[in-house]
Amino acid sequence: MHYTPAADRYESMIYNRCGRSGIQLPAVSLGLWHNFGSIDNFENGRSIIRQAFDKGITHFDLANNYGPLPGSAEENFGRILKKDFTGHLRDELIVSTKAGYLMWPGPYGDKGSRKYLISSLDQSLRRMQLDYVDIFYSHRPDPETPLEETMGALHSIVQQGKALYVGLSNYSAEQTQQAVSILQSLGTPCLIHQPKYSMFERWVENGLLDVLEANGVGCIPFSPLAQGLLTDRYLHGIPAGSRASKPTGFLQEKEVSAERIEQVKKLNDIAQQRGQSLAQMALAWILKDRRITTVLIGASSAAQLDNNLACLKNTAFDKEELERIEKILSI
Ligand code: NDP
Repeated sequence: MHYTPAADRYESMIYNRCGRSGIQLPAVSLGLWHNFGSIDNFENGRSIIRQAFDKGITHFDLANNYGPLPGSAEENFGRILKKDFTGHLRDELIVSTKAGYLMWPGPYGDKGSRKYLISSLDQSLRRMQLDYVDIFYSHRPDPETPLEETMGALHSIVQQGKALYVGLSNYSAEQTQQAVSILQSLGTPCLIHQPKYSMFERWVENGLLDVLEANGVGCIPFSPLAQGLLTDRYLHGIPAGSRASKPTGFLQEKEVSAERIEQVKKLNDIAQQRGQSLAQMALAWILKDRRITTVLIGASSAAQLDNNLACLKNTAFDKEELERIEKILSI
């Protein structure tokens, strides 16, 4: 069936400026790590992308290895773009991809060399049937490759017109400062950093967010729902079809521990008192910090996406709520 994007798609979304750049990103972005691979239902993925765009999500995050099979999320996204986002609609989208983890055998299919990053992006563009991506990331730091080489590759990629902006993912605060300085000296500013950040994973608060703010770099936290733990998904065990139940899911069954679920239940009580779902509160809790540009969620259905988007209705917390949350998280 033909897709016509909703006419009111820009009316309810909030757009935040990304660091000191000209780009604004939607407060909620959608990632294709799970649910878009060759093992997944294509039409379900397609309906999630359509729903996201209809609600003002302009930013879609991929990586070379997303699937499974690796590469298949990019292939499926390319098919969806070809079917539903023809013509000028490409200009309404921010498409991101990355390289840094194992993608093909031999010494050139992993980590941070110039050889790997440039050939991987060429492959990604072919899979997505695109001429360029909007953001290309170094997916992780590679201590064996000089940082100058990795950053030089990002700079070349922009000069070649294969990406409009570049970003870093999973770099520590110190590595980020070094990489951002090198990129600045090359004349290709770092647009954004993509770290893991949620109520259960707080490392960015110990330096990284300060480095990003000082350098005018945006921040897009991934797994803000702790892969589904910070939702009502696991309140009563591990349901069939959930990420923790699947052999291909990255959420391990052992992470859904009795102690974790105790915390989740207490957080869920606070969310209910705020008139939010736990997922909405967990996303709002991240967005309350003005240094955060956008939260990068995953969703296995359009209904989950809708539920999560409603977090934007209330991202303010009073002191008492924050203290109660901290107390639960410290247990
Ligand atoms: P989340 O923490 O948002 O987890 C998403 C999962 O939580 C969904 O797939 C779903 O799982 C469950 N969920 C979401 N909303 C709800 C809801 N309202 N109610 C109940 N369950 C819900 O993010 P991800 O871990 O998926 O990561 C998001 C993106 O971040 C990725 O797609 C990727 O783009 C990026 N990423 C980047 C990394 C990096 O190294 N740079 C690493 C990891 C991710 P279920 O299947 O159980 O329904």
